[in-house]
Amino acid sequence: MNRRNFLKTMSVLSATPLFAKKDNRLFFKFPRKPFEYHHLKAKNSKFRVMLIGGIHGNEIGAYKAADILINAHLLKGELFIIPRSNFTSILADVRGYNGDMNRKFAHISKKDPDYYYVELLKQAILEFNPDVVISMHDGYGFSIRNKHAWGQSIVIDEVKYKQFNLYSEANFVKNHANIYLKHKLAIINTKTFTSHIHDEQKKALTGWCLENGIKAFCIEASKQLPSLEEKIKTHLVMLREFFKLYDVEVKDLDEMIKNPNKFLDKRNVEANVKINGKIYSFSNSKTIKVPKSSEIEFLNFNGPRGSFAIAKGVNLNWRSFHARYLNVEVKNDYEKKFNIKVISGV
Ligand SMILES: [Zn+2]
Repeated sequence: MNRRNFLKTMSVLSATPLFAKKDNRLFFKFPRKPFEYHHLKAKNSKFRVMLIGGIHGNEIGAYKAADILINAHLLKGELFIIPRSNFTSILADVRGYNGDMNRKFAHISKKDPDYYYVELLKQAILEFNPDVVISMHDGYGFSIRNKHAWGQSIVIDEVKYKQFNLYSEANFVKNHANIYLKHKLAIINTKTFTSHIHDEQKKALTGWCLENGIKAFCIEASKQLPSLEEKIKTHLVMLREFFKLYDVEVKDLDEMIKNPNKFLDKRNVEANVKINGKIYSFSNSKTIKVPKSSEIEFLNFNGPRGSFAIAKGVNLNWRSFHARYLNVEVKNDYEKKFNIKVISGV
């Protein structure tokens, strides 16, 4: 927790008085953030492709592009999609609420709040055992113009790693995708295993995959593209070329590329909340007054995938806590939908 969040938390939460018989504060409970995965398989399938979005929470184009494909109909091939690997950071709309998740694959402490999700992600990869893992990101800037920028690129860890010809596949995707993209792609080779320039990449998802015998690439749109649609489009254009290499055919993919906005789920969110044993549904902003010592439990959310709620000013890793009052923001991913303010009455 950074200092600002800590101070905010302290202003909401107060310590239990030493001699109090009963805690007058409200008790809040939130569900565990889901670790979503989706498996799509066509009758005719040869290769298994795994798409991973949202390791970095503020890379919206990446996780929304992965999310759009979940609703697709597969004509050929097999896809395993984990759109929101780091849902806490997505809701906070920051790169890494608990530090950079993409540096936690070689080692992670059991005490790390990301531990549960990183372990689930690793387990899913090892169990699915895909022919390729594609880790989706929105990087900074434009790599074709600036060698320190990672935006609009395909990142490989080596030209060749064991039996995997990473460069030749990345080059195929780059050349073909560039025909359709205004902001052209470049290839970044981090030389993860043969030089020390990018030693940190050994701790990243792709480095971990390669060391475990699974082929992996990073694809990056640019954070500086003018709209979310452009970012999603960049991802889908790159994926379309990867899909050619792995014999995956997605119905309506060209239409998704042309008009990604049409495929985003914009439904409102409904929060189901149990207050002192009774269930209420909320879909608009509201201030509610409850008796002292009330128990308020957020049960679940109806609406688009990525719907959840966060308690303002409280550590987002916490699932239950006491507070005198609380402002809960109901969100769909990065987007705030409405607020529920809970205050304690007499
Ligand atoms: Zn990233």
